[in-house]
Amino acid sequence: MPDKVEVDRELCKGCGLCVEFCPKHVMQLSDELNTIGHHPAELHDGETCTSCALCAEMCPEGGITVYRKRRKRRE
Ligand code: SF4
Ligand code: SF4
Repeated sequence: MPDKVEVDRELCKGCGLCVEFCPKHVMQLSDELNTIGHHPAELHDGETCTSCALCAEMCPEGGITVYRKRRKRRE
């Protein structure tokens, strides 16, 4: 099974909104840089993530995809 949260590292601008708004505090900014010089967000605790998708809703770049076990996100 893939990670519950997938961040498009090259779309991410490192704004930190997903980190700030995650109710479970399981997103963080990576120490690494993407090719445009930003620290991309990443999921650091997949077990605690509830797949609530708030991070994806907050992302101004549309760079986060959330996977759920039984339900698909509405397009
Ligand atoms: S899906 Fe919800 S719990 Fe999981 S990282 Fe995003 S905001 Fe946090
Ligand atoms: S909200 Fe989007 S652009 Fe901002 S840090 Fe998170 S993934 Fe990156």
